[in-house]
Amino acid sequence: MSADLPQSKIVINYNGKEYLIPYIPATSFKGVLRSTVEVSKRKAGKSPLDFENKVKNFINDINNERSMKIFKDYLTDEIELLVDSGILDKKYKEMIKELKELDSKLIDILKAYFDVTGWNYKESCYITSDLDRCENIALIEDENRRKVREAWNKLTNREYFCNTCLLYGSSGLKASVRFTNFYPIDPFPVRIDRLTHVSIDRRTWAASPKKLYNEEIMSIGNRFLGFALLLNDNYLTQLLEDLKLLSEKANKMEVTLGGRGSTGYGAFSLDFNDFTIELSDESLLGKVRLKFKGKDLSNISKNNINEKVLLLKIFYPTYLLSTIEVVREDVGK
Ligand SMILES: [Zn+2]
Repeated sequence: MSADLPQSKIVINYNGKEYLIPYIPATSFKGVLRSTVEVSKRKAGKSPLDFENKVKNFINDINNERSMKIFKDYLTDEIELLVDSGILDKKYKEMIKELKELDSKLIDILKAYFDVTGWNYKESCYITSDLDRCENIALIEDENRRKVREAWNKLTNREYFCNTCLLYGSSGLKASVRFTNFYPIDPFPVRIDRLTHVSIDRRTWAASPKKLYNEEIMSIGNRFLGFALLLNDNYLTQLLEDLKLLSEKANKMEVTLGGRGSTGYGAFSLDFNDFTIELSDESLLGKVRLKFKGKDLSNISKNNINEKVLLLKIFYPTYLLSTIEVVREDVGK
């Protein structure tokens, strides 16, 4: 992995020395995984035949002024964001301004909205959007806002939560999967390079020596290790499919981790579930071949963990290490 250095760092005491170790926070990894899944699942769908009727029912359902205002504010934010990013035609910004009460014009606006954000809304909401995210209705105190959410769920065929939220969690719903942070284990300690850039004065296009800035980067090929802990077996297939999707997108460089992805940083490849890797003699465990196994941790024996693998205790809880098997050790290193 070559990545713009993750901002997060921890101090690790290793062999009596202290190291400042950069890592990829669990939340960053989960965020990238989730947004990749949201977009991909959402776009794999077509407009339903009964959509106009559904919108008409929706309009009836939220037929009170306060709910209408809440909904219109949410929708306006979404439409403005999409227009400002050039994804949606400017005319929709005008259309929503002119929408005094909810009427048939709403059908056109919502059609345009779902045309660009994807029609498979039952499968996935957008968790960062106020309009189109799932939330636990029982926890919404404002009655008018609850009405909007209930009507929106009906419009989007969502029972309570979309499948993406059921796995990754939502407001008022615990996630069914947890991730650890991803720590660099090969090489260990990881090498950090500092690049000095010259900033260009925008008015004169001259390089300004006073405006040097530093950027910390990691070179290509660092290996990070993290674990996913699935708390509900029903989602195993879904999680594996999602990781496969992320892995494919990463290989095509359609997804990056860390800052400045658009300028070529943050490319990565992802191995998951059952796989074998060869660590170099500069790794935390030395030169070794490790086999990782996606497995049920409910009745594991901690005594079976290889002594070498136990070195990873500085980063991860011991019970997770039972998923790692040493297949070959180079003796004498
Ligand atoms: Zn959702």
